[in-house]
Amino acid sequence: MDGKTKTLIHGLSASEFAAALAALGEPAFRAKQIWKWLYVQRVDDWAAMRNVPATLREKLAGSYSLEPVRRLEVDGEATGTRKILVGLGDGECVEEVLIPAGDRMTVCVSSQVGCRFACVFCASGKSGFVRNLESGEMVGQVLLAFREHGDRPSNIVFMGMGEPFDNYEAVLKAIRILNDQEGLLIGARHITISTSGVIPGIERLAGEGIQVELSVSLHAPDNDLRDQLMPVNRRYPLKDLMEACQRYVAGTRRIITFEYTLIGGVNDSRRQAEALARLLKPLPARVNLIPLSPVDGYLGEAPAPQVADMFIQVLEQAGINVTLRASKGGEIEAACGQLRRRHVKAGSVGEAAGS
Ligand code: SF4
Repeated sequence: MDGKTKTLIHGLSASEFAAALAALGEPAFRAKQIWKWLYVQRVDDWAAMRNVPATLREKLAGSYSLEPVRRLEVDGEATGTRKILVGLGDGECVEEVLIPAGDRMTVCVSSQVGCRFACVFCASGKSGFVRNLESGEMVGQVLLAFREHGDRPSNIVFMGMGEPFDNYEAVLKAIRILNDQEGLLIGARHITISTSGVIPGIERLAGEGIQVELSVSLHAPDNDLRDQLMPVNRRYPLKDLMEACQRYVAGTRRIITFEYTLIGGVNDSRRQAEALARLLKPLPARVNLIPLSPVDGYLGEAPAPQVADMFIQVLEQAGINVTLRASKGGEIEAACGQLRRRHVKAGSVGEAAGS
């Protein structure tokens, strides 16, 4: 990798890249030509850009890095769901997960190294916040997934390490690069931003005029429990969050998906299922129920299967569209942040600073 001294070329939007080439005195077609090498052929070597003059390639290689991230370690190749420890130019690392379903491949990417939001059941939160990812590092995770999978990922979810709305500009820029019609061409409707409930981010996204999917992690149907599980709730309480979701739906005419991790004896009672149904009743909403994956440092467990069945039944009876998501790869430490924590403990990178 070129380290931090060079600009990540994959962090430039198409218009920024065209301007950079124009500033070098290059004709407009040259930017389009190189853009195709980057996102259609997806080369990782300047020499491979055969129709680009060698002098220009050398000039670009002196200023720009072509390798925004690299694969350090892969877990779970035998199980289908692959979790990749992704190395960054400054020696830090994040995680991404490739989740196959039939002939589709969903890629879960990280937006930050660590996370300052400290949800109690999350390994990323336990490591504290280190830094925001650059757009190029997020685009780089998708390119890496492309390479691993051997084909275009069908869906991208910003649900890995970090709170995407805590790194809003870089995430939105990465999405626009992924979505570029002459580049990777990943449709906005196939891209999901998952937030822990950062209201200003929800409000900003509503005004972007971009068709990405929004997913909101609830994990509790009442304010007191949500305060305990997700400290973000103290800043953006449930009532305000649900009002922001209603405004989002009214303004964008889009459905929100709510994530609810089922934790045995904590948030999985019939009473809590009924409270969740009441909370979501005013919205066109989908619910993803996810039995908790074991997390180092958190004692909670997934409930028994019949408890999850009861929860689904209560929501469905209230007319809510609900899906039980398999806890993909508890066996490969798929709960986000755990692979990195293991890596940190082994002394490969500096321990996170904490939030
Ligand atoms: S669940 Fe998301 S917002 Fe909460 S600590 Fe983990 S990465 Fe951060």
